[in-house]
Amino acid sequence: MRRVSVFGATGSIGVNTLDLIGRRPGAFQVVALSGGRNVKLLAQQARQFNAEIAVTAHEDCLEELREALAGAGTEVAAGKDALIEAALRPADWVMSAIVGAAGLAPGFAALSQGTTLALANKESLVTAGPLLLAEAQKHGARILPVDSEHSAVFQALVGEDYAAVERVIITASGGAFRDWPLEKLKEATVAQASTHPNWAMGQRITIDSASMFNKAMELIETKEFFGFPPEMIEAVVHPESMIHALVGFKDGALMAHLGAPDMRHAIGYALNWPEREDLPVKRLDLVEIGKLTFRKADEARFPALRLAREVMATGGTAGAAFNAAKEAALDAFIAEEIGFLDMGALVTAVLTEMSARHGLGKPLENLDMVYQTDATARALARQVIPSLRT
Ligand code: NAD
Ligand code: MG
Repeated sequence: MRRVSVFGATGSIGVNTLDLIGRRPGAFQVVALSGGRNVKLLAQQARQFNAEIAVTAHEDCLEELREALAGAGTEVAAGKDALIEAALRPADWVMSAIVGAAGLAPGFAALSQGTTLALANKESLVTAGPLLLAEAQKHGARILPVDSEHSAVFQALVGEDYAAVERVIITASGGAFRDWPLEKLKEATVAQASTHPNWAMGQRITIDSASMFNKAMELIETKEFFGFPPEMIEAVVHPESMIHALVGFKDGALMAHLGAPDMRHAIGYALNWPEREDLPVKRLDLVEIGKLTFRKADEARFPALRLAREVMATGGTAGAAFNAAKEAALDAFIAEEIGFLDMGALVTAVLTEMSARHGLGKPLENLDMVYQTDATARALARQVIPSLRT
């Protein structure tokens, strides 16, 4: 039996991961499960999978978790340190699916025990890519991408020589507002931004899809994970979300990865790697689909993509500053403190200011540099927010 842990078990990715694990009784033993305030679900998952330990991120939720798991034989714990301790428990496979920069530390810790880390938490690569890859190498650990685009690129590259790659194209559904004119985007509400035309995901990544910040993160993620130079990486809008990414080679061949927009494709590929197993996903009927369409990703309407180019060119601490500013902008938008288009303006302002005051290209030496940059960017964002209120 393979020992597996799932961080962010109660979220969209976590629930899908446990769905796949649950379909193969006897194949996996669940070590650690983590969640946030959704204690009821976490406890139910821990009982169902007979987890060794269940961890809530919030110390004020510990008692509730303890009560919910009374008599279950599952240990309980709470807080950031507890998450790290749980990530250090020996496991063959660890899913990193906490949302936001908070997912970095547990994933990093898991690498130090030489495990296979299935990485859904894109913030880890955006904020600390080089540190993460170095940590994996140091401990003989492996990182498998779970973001659908990166799983697709990874699969298109199996058996290929990286030196023969000419370009990488990741697709973007375009999110909730792909057909909205700029004027209308100003008025977009949180509820409107929180519905996705193709994918069912957590609220934060759904809003990031509407603003294209998700695609911006994924461009940076592609550069960090695969090591291709930024000029080889592009995003194309593909409203049907059937092709997840394409890899172009120097002979002109373009290898595309197709699949239904269901995250269990990418999660299952990472879970079963290097084998393939049956997955409960819809098979594409090409005749029924009829045609696939593509359009240019519009940088004027979505400044996030332009910012991603700047971050990739700058490197170093720029990724951590970008992600923290983006998280702060998203918090402010969800709290209705700023408008939809203000998110791009806020991130631009924070990056400009940080670059002027601190410089952003300093190579990352340790996680502390990431955390410090993150804290500075969030504080700066709080200062800028009042000036954006309209
Ligand atoms: P979600 O909001 O549905 O779930 C997030 C999980 O993280 C929950 O278990 C929550 O309790 C936990 N969590 C939240 N804040 C936390 C904190 N401060 N400390 C510890 N735990 C915390 O999110 P999701 O959509 O499942 O996304 C998870 C990650 O996977 C994100 O990084 C996202 O960008 C990435 N991702 C998601 C999808 C998708 O389809 N949902 C696709 C690609 C990548
Ligand atoms: Mg994605």
